[in-house]
Amino acid sequence: ARRSQIRRTKTVCTYCGVGCSFEIWTKNRKILKVEPKPESPANGILTCVKGKFGWDFVNSKDRLTKPLIREGDHFREASWEEAIRLIASKFKQIKERYGPDALGFIASDKMSNEEAYLLQKLARGVIGTNNVDNSSRYCQSPATIGLWRTVGIGADSGTIKDIEMADLILIVGHNTTESHPVIGSKVKRAQKVNGAKIVVIDVRKHEIAERADLFIRPKPGNDALILAGVVKYILDNDWVNHEFLKRVEGLENLKRSLKDLTLEYVESTSGVPKEDIIKLAKMIHEAKGVVVLWGMGVTQHLGGADTSTMISNLLLLTGNYGRPGAGAFPMRGHNNVQGVSDFGCLPNYLPGYQPMEENVFSKFEDAWRTKLNRRPGLQIPQMIEGILEGKVHGLYIVGEDTVMVDCGTPLTRKALEGLEFLVVQDMFLTETAKLADVVLPACSNLEKDGTFVNTERRIQRFYKAMDPLGESKPDWEIIQLLARELGESWNYLHPSEIMDEIAKLVPIFSGVRYDRLEGFNSLVWPVEEDGRDTPILYVNSFALEGGKAKLYPIVWKRKSVEEKVYSITVNSGRVLEHFHEGTMTGRVEGLARKFPETYVEISSELAKKHSIKTGDMVLVRSKFGGEIRAKALVSDRVFGEEIFVPLFASNPSKAVNNLTGREIDRDSGTPGYKDTLASIEKL
Ligand code: SF4
Repeated sequence: ARRSQIRRTKTVCTYCGVGCSFEIWTKNRKILKVEPKPESPANGILTCVKGKFGWDFVNSKDRLTKPLIREGDHFREASWEEAIRLIASKFKQIKERYGPDALGFIASDKMSNEEAYLLQKLARGVIGTNNVDNSSRYCQSPATIGLWRTVGIGADSGTIKDIEMADLILIVGHNTTESHPVIGSKVKRAQKVNGAKIVVIDVRKHEIAERADLFIRPKPGNDALILAGVVKYILDNDWVNHEFLKRVEGLENLKRSLKDLTLEYVESTSGVPKEDIIKLAKMIHEAKGVVVLWGMGVTQHLGGADTSTMISNLLLLTGNYGRPGAGAFPMRGHNNVQGVSDFGCLPNYLPGYQPMEENVFSKFEDAWRTKLNRRPGLQIPQMIEGILEGKVHGLYIVGEDTVMVDCGTPLTRKALEGLEFLVVQDMFLTETAKLADVVLPACSNLEKDGTFVNTERRIQRFYKAMDPLGESKPDWEIIQLLARELGESWNYLHPSEIMDEIAKLVPIFSGVRYDRLEGFNSLVWPVEEDGRDTPILYVNSFALEGGKAKLYPIVWKRKSVEEKVYSITVNSGRVLEHFHEGTMTGRVEGLARKFPETYVEISSELAKKHSIKTGDMVLVRSKFGGEIRAKALVSDRVFGEEIFVPLFASNPSKAVNNLTGREIDRDSGTPGYKDTLASIEKL
């Protein structure tokens, strides 16, 4: 009888974009264990420490269990009816006074696909604005742009299997072991078992760089230049795949754009010996299949879209698309950052990346029985600027701690403090929620049904393992309550009904149905109506007009920055034990104990220059005005005038985004987080 109380529920990890799936064993609300199964499509029997042990946050004493309404400088508990009524009336007021574009909607990359679709439906179909965005804007939007320009679909071109099958795994600006641990294990296994070669281009010598067959360490911000050098060398030696290039346009354009580039220039600007550039070009030429994995070391730089474009150019020239063991793999950060973008939380695309064109608008207008706004919406950093400029008056933030994750925390905080009306829907009273007028308690993915899309475009089901805590609710139910209060007749009884609506309106999901996703079954989009999915893209044609790919020239020349006071470059990233700023993992006792506080990692060279030892308190002052104080960790992973600060912050005043500025990449709108310059001193 005791065993019968134990429940096993299939779920998908709530942390990173690998999308590990497993059975979670529960007894009432107690989480007993996590059991990965051989049939788990992305991970098999593997998980990392977060997926295995990172679930205490679900029962944390900090969970929000009732709606909260601000009264002066404190919150009071309220009923759902009162909270939703207040939000609806304030949103109506703002819309009447300033127009629909005075409201903005920020989606969480932990929402389900169905919830993301409903949030953008609320913004577009009910409020009448395209101001809806998600936090891919903070990380991988530049990769999406690079792929859109060259091959037409802004997502991984193959699946994790292709990474395992490649001869050469090129990793650019990505700490695979700590950011996507299960893929990190698979990369190492491919090296050990299949003899795959690993090349890492990174400013920091993290674990996977230690194991690389070739480690290239440029000065910060030079990835595009190095890749351009490799491409130039391949072109000069005629190592291109001529047969494959019949499917590709723009070769002459690309050649012209690189005419003046010399390996001597690459070496003197990036600090990478030209012999390493030649060696990498040769390895790519000799490999049967090449995959490129890249992360925020590429995309969180100004010019991140150009670097991503050059990665795709390189794969096109050498014929590394459309077949097993090859392709482009931007590593998606959050568990559902891919899905939240795919299902429409973007200001310039309708769900499924359908363009903002008349025929698409009318299709949605007919289905939703409404009139849609044709103006493209604001990206998240533009929403924050919009508040400061008096154009945005209300924000609805779902599950994002915007204050902590947007660039330049002091300014973001100031903007949100001055906002007329802020609604935050979250599991915890985050730094952002503390500034809200209304806080709505959301539940975790163990307390609801839905689907996620992982980094390889794989759609997977997760199932409810327990009831929502207190009065907390799934995001889709909360969004529906608000839509109904605003006069809509929405009546979805289960997320599967939302997916049925999506399948009718979004061609890439036309064959997605819950009965095809039962248990550990999954579908990799695009999914045809008959249920056929697409693990490898571009087998027969590319997704650009005419079916051909396009080589796209980029700006490879660097602006040189002369800085005397702020001469140190601030790098940031994940650590194995924590997910980003630590809203969830910071509430998991074992993980918090293992990694209790942030640090500033500095090179021995810098340590010597400033007489800093491991454990000393240091003050880091940013060129943009912010500062943090934290303990130093002297290591040989960072070099010269560079420091590394984990994204996890035990205390908001130590968060790395106190240092970052607000300049954004012109092509993608992503902030140049890793272009932050600072000074350091021992306290
Ligand atoms: Fe898998 Fe990522 Fe979750 Fe770790 S954090 S278990 S690698 S999905």
